[in-house]
Amino acid sequence: MSALGTIRSGAAPRVKSLLLGSRFYSVFRRVLPSRRLAILRYHAVCSPDAGYADPGICVSPAAFEQHAAYLAAHYSVLALPEAVAALRRGTTLPPNAVAVTFDDGYADNLAAARVLHRVGLPGTFYITAGCLAGEQPFWPAEIRALIPAVKTSPLNLMADGRSVQIPLGDDVQRRAAIRTISRLFKAHSIPARESLREQLRRAAGAVRVPECMLRWEDVAEMQRLGMTIGSHTVTHPNLPNAGEIDARREVRDSKARLERELGTPVTMFSYPNGGAERYMTPEVAHLVREAGFEAATTSRNAFAGPDSDLYALERVQVSERLEDLAFALEVERIALQPHPRTHEVEP
Ligand SMILES: [Zn+2]
Repeated sequence: MSALGTIRSGAAPRVKSLLLGSRFYSVFRRVLPSRRLAILRYHAVCSPDAGYADPGICVSPAAFEQHAAYLAAHYSVLALPEAVAALRRGTTLPPNAVAVTFDDGYADNLAAARVLHRVGLPGTFYITAGCLAGEQPFWPAEIRALIPAVKTSPLNLMADGRSVQIPLGDDVQRRAAIRTISRLFKAHSIPARESLREQLRRAAGAVRVPECMLRWEDVAEMQRLGMTIGSHTVTHPNLPNAGEIDARREVRDSKARLERELGTPVTMFSYPNGGAERYMTPEVAHLVREAGFEAATTSRNAFAGPDSDLYALERVQVSERLEDLAFALEVERIALQPHPRTHEVEP
């Protein structure tokens, strides 16, 4: 195991806590400031047991308050469009530059936007434009709501003419089933995904999917607070598997819908999904550019810089602990590649 690997394993939590409690980071930021851009990638800001999002993509509201205060105190937090403009022009970023982004459009993001506003930070919120409150359920949350209601095991699904059997015998199998079905949804076209969703709904019976997404008035309020609103497609497909016609529609229609509802240009895009599953291709990036977006972020865990492709911007995945965030920003940046995290594959 490499020296860095050793730091990240057993001793890591204690080392990270000691580093955060010392003056090391503040000296380090002054002596050797970051010249690159850390685009932080948040999702839900809720308790990990809230149920509507994978626990691996949840940061608790208390932790988020800490993150926001720490970033405000120690970093040059830029609005993403401002950072993108600097990268495009080739002008120097301020030292220790950070941009804060959120994927999906969870209802809890309104409170996160208010926290950012209170400490004077900008943020970018990527909205799944067809899945706001009262519209089509956001499928990753719907799967999580339906699986506990399925009474038979195994669950039989037909995916593009192929039978898939998913055991639901105990809690471990049910958690695995959520991952398996999520992968099935990502691996198929949008019509095939909708067929799978219908089969799952029939198997679950009458289940009310709890509302967990923002309302349009919330998004408008976030915009009034100075936040940037970006697109995360209409229905969160895995774009390379959606086919060119549907992928183009998802990209274009999300922009048109957001602009119609909000009355301002929407220029930032975030590709849904990530990690091991192929979630973007040069062809998909071309569709994003063709639709008029100025930049797009990925889930590739790294720092962005002048050498980045503006339609494939790297981000830094964020998890609960402030110690981990500070470690990623100050130690992993030296190691060039931030540590890949296991939940990177989630939405
Ligand atoms: Zn997403």
